[in-house]
Amino acid sequence: MKKIAEVLISKKFLTAAIAILLAAMFVCEFSARRRVVSAERETYKLGTVVHITAYGSDKKALDAELDAAVNEITRLENLFSVNIASSEISKINSSDRGAGVGAETAAIITEALRIAGETDGAFDPTIEPIVKLWGIATDHPRVPGKGEIEGALPLVDYRRVSVSGGNVSKGAGQKLDLGGIAKGWIADRLSDKLRADGIKSALIDLGGNLSVVGESSERRAWRLGLQRPSSSRGEYFAIIEATDLSVVTSGPYERYFDRDGVRYHHIFDPKTGYPAESDLSSVSIVSKNSADADALCTAFFVMGLEKSVRFLKAHKDISAVLLTKDMKKVYATTNIKDKLTVEDKSMSLEFIGGRGD
Ligand code: AMP
Ligand code: MG
Repeated sequence: MKKIAEVLISKKFLTAAIAILLAAMFVCEFSARRRVVSAERETYKLGTVVHITAYGSDKKALDAELDAAVNEITRLENLFSVNIASSEISKINSSDRGAGVGAETAAIITEALRIAGETDGAFDPTIEPIVKLWGIATDHPRVPGKGEIEGALPLVDYRRVSVSGGNVSKGAGQKLDLGGIAKGWIADRLSDKLRADGIKSALIDLGGNLSVVGESSERRAWRLGLQRPSSSRGEYFAIIEATDLSVVTSGPYERYFDRDGVRYHHIFDPKTGYPAESDLSSVSIVSKNSADADALCTAFFVMGLEKSVRFLKAHKDISAVLLTKDMKKVYATTNIKDKLTVEDKSMSLEFIGGRGD
């Protein structure tokens, strides 16, 4: 009898102990959540709106971190911008056959040339003479004459540019434009620094070029929206769940002008010198490496659906979401099956080659 009573008491004791433990865990969890603070910066840089948010427990430290991030964007923009006369890119562009540059400029050009080679020049950082003729990002965009385009096209050829140590050499008259890769490259530097400084949760948005550090403040994967082309900002056709990843999207709707009923956009076909006549309306790449994602989605847009699908089947480590021009069909690689939700029910989804195919 005494034994049974002892067992009953110890069982009761155990239940009470577990209940107290659970309550303590709940209180700890609750106060940890309450302690989450955030810092945010929004500014106009890199020709677009830049928005960075970071979460943590020390507001002062987060503020210092984001101030440093904004300064870092300015520093890198001052190196890479084609529109800043003192940048290293302008130094190369104004020289006859090339110039000496710092390690970061050499690194981004090397990366741009690598992707140009991989995409057979669909992405080509020597596109500047064509970009300049059209002036799409300026206040005075125009449709150049056929002769002007024919005159500029021979300068567009990444194969005549090379980087050796700190020296960039190029063909006479060639000029670089890193607009298709710089945002991604800079996002990588920012997220590397935030991680190295112990930030566990941050969202870097460089004009739609997204990179996330860790999980969201709710301690789950970030839910990143893919912009519905030609709809207002923030209208998404699909959601990607991302932790420590970058999601970059390219599409003609991002920058364009209309003339005589024709829409001219900012992603050029390096083979023709005209805005690429793509059968896609947007391309998103999901990757640990935002620079590669940035350059690749520009390239895929130029390549169009069929070539992009062929490329993805041969490079199964790349994750992509392609939306057709009629916006009726979404193609996605199987390696992001568990991360992708297509929200727009008027679109059908088909998976293409990728890991697990
Ligand atoms: P994105 O917004 O990343 O697709 O890049 C578009 C920007 O990259 C343009 O505004 C140009 O500065 C540049 N660009 C346009 N066409 C190309 C191309 N085919 N290859 C490389 N850069 C390009
Ligand atoms: Mg790009």
